[in-house]
Amino acid sequence: MRSVYLDHAATTPLHPEVSSLMGEFMREIFGNPSSLHSFGREARKWMEEARQKVANLIGASAEEIVFTSGGTEADNLAILGVALSRSEKGRHIITSSIEHHAVLDTCKFLAKKGFEVTFLPVDRYGIIDPDDVRKAIRKDTILITIMHANNEIGTIEPIEEIGKIARDHGIIFHTDAVQTAGKIPVDVNTLNVDLLSLSAHKIYGPKGVGALYVRKGVRLEPILHGGGQERKYRSGTENTIGIVGFGKAAEIAARDLDQEFSRTKRLRDKLIRGIFEKIPDVRLNGHLKQRLPHNANFSFFGVEGESLILSLDLQGIAASSGSACSSRSLQPSHVLAALGLPYEWIHGSVRMTLGRTNTESDIDYVLEVLPDIVARLRSFSPLARKLQA
Ligand SMILES: *Cc1c(COP(=O)(O)O)cnc(C)c1O
Repeated sequence: MRSVYLDHAATTPLHPEVSSLMGEFMREIFGNPSSLHSFGREARKWMEEARQKVANLIGASAEEIVFTSGGTEADNLAILGVALSRSEKGRHIITSSIEHHAVLDTCKFLAKKGFEVTFLPVDRYGIIDPDDVRKAIRKDTILITIMHANNEIGTIEPIEEIGKIARDHGIIFHTDAVQTAGKIPVDVNTLNVDLLSLSAHKIYGPKGVGALYVRKGVRLEPILHGGGQERKYRSGTENTIGIVGFGKAAEIAARDLDQEFSRTKRLRDKLIRGIFEKIPDVRLNGHLKQRLPHNANFSFFGVEGESLILSLDLQGIAASSGSACSSRSLQPSHVLAALGLPYEWIHGSVRMTLGRTNTESDIDYVLEVLPDIVARLRSFSPLARKLQA
């Protein structure tokens, strides 16, 4: 059977150049990068090369990169790190209602521990108004954390403008760039950010490794204590194999960014056009233009998203409903709810995210099988029958 992977926002396969370099490193280098002898120095050399490559991807310098166990830990370190180090100055945090759970739940945790959190709304395309950020700022605001682009609907936020507002007020600004780095240009100086989260497995690197960019001069309290690795920001012997893979993935992402941007965007636009041509009562969630090039998120009226995912899976097509993280909890997506989408539309949502594995004929195949699946599921649905009547 054909197999078409349309879930690149959940994770990506290792790039062949990444797995081959990781293989070489894994077989030959085992030293602890903190050791002073030649074994340690060799491991450190590889790790520092990777650090430079990750820094290059986002216009940072190598000393500003702290390796973590992934995007989730980078988000936790940023938010808890600022909260712990600045709680004397204030206890107010500003974020949005459409953040990834790694940010949202960390903020909710702090709200239970005596911090105050403002969750900003979004418009119907998922965009945060910088004016709302400005108005939410108080004397005791210590952190603003707003994602660069949303993982479900692909909406790109006005980070540059929000960063400028934060800077004018002397407030630390964090952005979760897990979905954008390597997909669209990301430069920490253009974006005016102090802290920025990255994850390797979303850019054809290995799982279980990521990084937090920490602007020079910004102080954070660590959340893991011990051997003082990563300039004391993240104790624990580094995941050297993962880091080496992350470095290679970052290098390739930067090298191929323009080409992959236009290639996935062309395929994505073909998919969107085809679906609108062939299927009635469908909507595209998120913004039409301020959007990641590889993201499409649809709502099919009168269809249950999960049923659609399972039917697609039987035809070898992998897509997702909501985000990978929340789809197991069977909660309706907090992102689609924040757009003000009525329940019947949220229910019928499916995300398709393209990437390196996809070709033109993948899209043709999806457009061939999807209309029949939607029609069949609608024929069982009282809601859809009501619409047709
Ligand atoms: C995937 C993702 C994360 C979590 O990254 P992990 O490396 O899987 O922990 C955080 N934020 C966003 C926006 C993501 O898409």
